[in-house]
Amino acid sequence: MLVEAVIKNGAQTTGEGPHWDEETGTLLYVDIWEGDVHRWNPSTGVDQKVHLGGPVTFIVPSKKGGYIIGQNRSICHLDWDSEKLDTLHTVEEGTANRFNDGKCDRNGRLWTGTMGVELKDGMEEERGTLYSVDGISGLRSHIDKVTISNGMAWSADNKTMYFIDSPLKVIYAFDYKAETGNISNKRVAIHVVNGFPDGMTIDTEDKLWVACFSAGRVVRYDPETGNELRVIEIPSKRTTSCCFGGDNFDDLYVTSCAKHVSVEELTLSEVLKEEPLAGSVFRVTGLGVRGQAASKYTG
Ligand code: CA
Repeated sequence: MLVEAVIKNGAQTTGEGPHWDEETGTLLYVDIWEGDVHRWNPSTGVDQKVHLGGPVTFIVPSKKGGYIIGQNRSICHLDWDSEKLDTLHTVEEGTANRFNDGKCDRNGRLWTGTMGVELKDGMEEERGTLYSVDGISGLRSHIDKVTISNGMAWSADNKTMYFIDSPLKVIYAFDYKAETGNISNKRVAIHVVNGFPDGMTIDTEDKLWVACFSAGRVVRYDPETGNELRVIEIPSKRTTSCCFGGDNFDDLYVTSCAKHVSVEELTLSEVLKEEPLAGSVFRVTGLGVRGQAASKYTG
């Protein structure tokens, strides 16, 4: 197994939301507070970016062309070449909340949730909501009183959805109905001991790979037993999310945070002095497991 920083210091602030686009063979990710979306091509090594203004929290390709992104309290469509941004939905107006992680289920329905303000001494609790968006039902809310809406994943049989509310240090499982997008029967699948569960992905054996913020690691869990199966140490403490990519979906890409603007007091150069690879995107090869293609937005 090899862990390498393939996009060294790719993010100036919080690198997040890695998504492997199999059609173009590129890795998409965001730099939340810098307000940039990135598109990195591993064959050329070129990391393109579009500056949108932060916070920008996720990027997912749309089947109709372009990308769906989360920016502050809005879900928008981005045309990469013209950099034209169209707002599709805005939520929770009049609050200081913002969207966070976002991902599509296998039906191409976008799931994304909100969170309150990060304060120096903690979080505004239970201010967020988990939503879904599709072309038929539009925007729907599913769970309220979420503190930091984060990682999502769906089991291979498409009957279970997993969801992370980070400060609670748990990963929830729900019964999931693919046709309607309804979720029910909320229960705790996993308790995370080291760090805070942040973004996650799932492999073809239905095991979860969870980036643990503050712990510098990605952990493979069995959601049936809640057991930790494997720990991958990443040379950046604030690991934020992960996805499988590459031609065979057997490379694990991991994003990390450099300067966490809302609460960080150190400057970027002070952070990098302590942790030279902070903000990098890492690739883990030789794991012996595979993921599958992430879904595009079909709405
Ligand atoms: Ca996250």
